[in-house]
Amino acid sequence: MTIERTLVIVKPDGVKRGLIGEVISRLERVGLKIVAIKMVWASREQIEGFYPSNPDWFKSVGNKTLGSYKEMGIDPKAELGTDDPVEIGRLVKKWLVDYMTESPIVLMVVEGNHAVEVVRKLVGSTLPYKAEPGTIRGDYSVDSPDLANREKRAIRNIVHASDSPEEARREIGYWFRENEIYEY
Ligand code: ADP
Ligand code: MG
Repeated sequence: MTIERTLVIVKPDGVKRGLIGEVISRLERVGLKIVAIKMVWASREQIEGFYPSNPDWFKSVGNKTLGSYKEMGIDPKAELGTDDPVEIGRLVKKWLVDYMTESPIVLMVVEGNHAVEVVRKLVGSTLPYKAEPGTIRGDYSVDSPDLANREKRAIRNIVHASDSPEEARREIGYWFRENEIYEY
């Protein structure tokens, strides 16, 4: 069976720009099913616990900045005071907590065939300036790490979507009780 569940979050920029409906309709349009949904104004502690705090994740986040800096010929040490991806990842996580707590967010559990992969495809690249047109991030944002990091903030990319079935299970369990998720 390939019927999966994944977690989608409309982030504060999506909520404030009135894109909740747009995100939902793009998910429903392809035949995915919303099986749980709620609006939450998350605390800093909730967001800190939600995003991983292991060196591998920090490194993968930091490398997104380093990759873009390299492409643009920006010196990470001059810009951020370090060229260590793990250190940059830690900085980004702090900014991410600021971002995700600045307004309510909309959390949903989305179910369907290969839901994790299909939703990631609809959402597009983490870096909106690289995201394909037709994806949520590509259609609604042009943000990039160089701009975001210069302004000491996280990249604003409208939505969160789980990255793997394992991550989806953990993330859904983090925000939803079993009796808040419906079978229909
Ligand atoms: P995704 O949301 O595509 O799974 P990650 O899990 O790597 O991406 O990162 C979580 C979130 O942190 C991103 O959606 C983005 O808002 C922010 N982010 C990631 N990398 C950076 C970065 N290098 N600079 C600023 N913000 C970042
Ligand atoms: Mg992720």
